[in-house]
Amino acid sequence: MKREGLILILSAPSGAGKTSLCRELFKIFPDMKESVSYTTRVPRMGEVEGEAYHFVTQETFDAMIAEDSFAEWAIVHGNMYGTALRTLEDARKNGIDMVLDIDCQGALKLKEQFDGGVYVFILPPNMEELRRRLEHRSSDSQDVIERRIVRASAEIKESRWYDYIIFNDIFDIACQELASIVIAHRRKTFRMMEKVGKVFDI
Ligand code: 5GP
Repeated sequence: MKREGLILILSAPSGAGKTSLCRELFKIFPDMKESVSYTTRVPRMGEVEGEAYHFVTQETFDAMIAEDSFAEWAIVHGNMYGTALRTLEDARKNGIDMVLDIDCQGALKLKEQFDGGVYVFILPPNMEELRRRLEHRSSDSQDVIERRIVRASAEIKESRWYDYIIFNDIFDIACQELASIVIAHRRKTFRMMEKVGKVFDI
């Protein structure tokens, strides 16, 4: 029996620290892969095609929707983002554990349409701390920060249907909690039977 790859979906409001947690997760589990989404957003300075994203035109994105190529897609901050169904199916089939960093709308579509993902929502310790982080980390205008905070409040309500919730208060503890979730799902019997079969010839 071939081991089924783990599909780990992470969502968080901006400022919750998801990017840093993801980076740490790949250090702990170097064999995990990051899903490369498709987007109509223009590349930022230093972003390379095929690394963070596949950067495509609106026409290409629309054609992919029409061909049912996406497991989920959503409009985020005015740009379109989508995860190719093929990426997930290949990972699952080939026993690759994959991390998806996607917004709540996309995660919900995926949960409704794609079996077996593990959904984790990362929260900031509280709204005051979220505001402090957003103000501290960026050169965004007060107006943009206010909009992010309004959006964060709406997104936090979506945390209720995720499988796990992590408060990113103390970073190291949040990392351990995220790693524990991965380990628990890696040790599910149905993911272990391939190894048991090989080791004990059963
Ligand atoms: P950014 O453009 O800053 O890299 O990402 C903006 C937002 O888009 C992030 O919240 C990220 O989680 C979300 N995002 C990235 N890729 C996807 C995707 O494939 N699907 C969905 N639904 N959201 C995505």
